[in-house]
Amino acid sequence: MSLPGSTVQASPTGVSPESAAARAHLFAAGSVERYRRALAEGIDRVAARVAAVDRPFTGVTPDELAPRIAGIDLDQPLSDPTAALDELQDVYLRDAVYFHHPRYLAHLNCPVVIPALLGEAVLSAVNSSVDTWDQSAGATLIERRLVDWTAERIGLGPAADGVFTSGGTQSNLQAMLLAREEACARVVGREAARPTRPELLSRLRVITSAAGHFSVQKAAKLLGLGADAVITVATGADRRMSTAELAREIDRCRREDLVVMAVVATAGTTDFGTIDPLARIADICAAADVWLHVDAAYGCGLLVSPTRRHLLDGIERADSVTVDYHKSFFQPVSSSALLVRDRRVLRHATWHADYLNPARMVEQRIPNQVDKSLQTTRRFDALKLWLTLRIMGPDALGALFDEVVDRAAGAWQLLTEDPRFEVVTRSQLSTVVFRYLPSGTGRHLADDANLYAREALAASGAALVAGTKVDGAHHLKFTLLNPETTLDDIAHVLDLIAGHAGWYVDTRTAAELSCPVG
Ligand SMILES: *Cc1c(COP(=O)(O)O)cnc(C)c1O
Repeated sequence: MSLPGSTVQASPTGVSPESAAARAHLFAAGSVERYRRALAEGIDRVAARVAAVDRPFTGVTPDELAPRIAGIDLDQPLSDPTAALDELQDVYLRDAVYFHHPRYLAHLNCPVVIPALLGEAVLSAVNSSVDTWDQSAGATLIERRLVDWTAERIGLGPAADGVFTSGGTQSNLQAMLLAREEACARVVGREAARPTRPELLSRLRVITSAAGHFSVQKAAKLLGLGADAVITVATGADRRMSTAELAREIDRCRREDLVVMAVVATAGTTDFGTIDPLARIADICAAADVWLHVDAAYGCGLLVSPTRRHLLDGIERADSVTVDYHKSFFQPVSSSALLVRDRRVLRHATWHADYLNPARMVEQRIPNQVDKSLQTTRRFDALKLWLTLRIMGPDALGALFDEVVDRAAGAWQLLTEDPRFEVVTRSQLSTVVFRYLPSGTGRHLADDANLYAREALAASGAALVAGTKVDGAHHLKFTLLNPETTLDDIAHVLDLIAGHAGWYVDTRTAAELSCPVG
């Protein structure tokens, strides 16, 4: 049968040839061979590319790449995976940034472990959605087991719970939502005047350190708090939150009738790899009856460290904790979780929809992760960590993280002994912040020379390093997350940086001499 006006002749089975061809792409019982072949081919391409990686980046520019991508006609499919992968080689694989290379030293991106890649392939093929039991079955229970495992590693106690999230930004946002709701409930119960919600929101404050992550400010904005809601207390020379400042700020807020809804301690600042004094902060929060959130997006790898777990002492007293498995557990993006001390607070993320998670499901004790999550449809990212633990085990992961922390200490040592550079605070984790320091008359060019060196290095693709500002001055940053990075790699990259920066200073100085300003 064919519909009136249809140009396509239906087959006797009622399936048009177009539809039959399209259906062949659906992953189902009849197409497992196609699935095997397509994935094997994709794996071969990636494997070949990674095997050939000889520098972290080709140095491609947006101007070179954009026309290649814009020139592709998305309405004209290539039909077979081989042709599409050939094209992908040209627009992506050849010029991607490879964290797999030991001279990728820029951001908090880790090389990934193979068990997690296996998990990634399985989870997207089965495509469970961990919002409800009836879309996931075992996936829900596996995620719960991993939440419990993580909470146990932290030491959050018997009432702990949590949920996987897309990343530290989302984990922090949810933590701030829970803290906000708890704070509002407390104030409403306490104050006879019964403030309205807008009145209350304008009085809420979050305290974090100047080295805390910007996602805290974003969360405050999303949660309807005022522009001045996040108070950043100073860090000492060690780049850790000053607890004296923290105590003073809490007192000041009290005096000004403001409500401190949360203190966010950072266990692993993104720039400096320093860990706020968690136990002392926990004391202050307990005394002031304030929610303590620990942002361990970076430092969570210490939870499995065979030698450095003590650096997180005090984290067990948090009300909520952010962990990013995709940073220090060597997991592919996305893989993160929010953990809470008291599972009841997760109700602030609950909304019952008749079609999905009616309240009766709670009575029937049907497990539903959607009741704890900001997301609805959600990837079974937990499977990556599950297979990692089942194949490698936690000690092996921790040993990898320990190795990069050791390497950062070695890099710091190298830098302190090198007169070409000035190095900032020693990290407790795996970052090193430093800058090239031109000698003598070139000193005033330090900022520009460091900026130039970073860009020149990236353009060459020989190595990638990050940049940041410290006390207003441009610095360079190594973030070490690849255990294959050697001290020789680091020494080599330092030479490259000094070469670029030195060239810049010499050229500018010569120009200034031949053409004096003023
Ligand atoms: C990376 C980071 C975040 C944000 O995590 P995403 O996974 O990138 O969203 C939050 N806090 C800290 C300390 C981080 O280093």
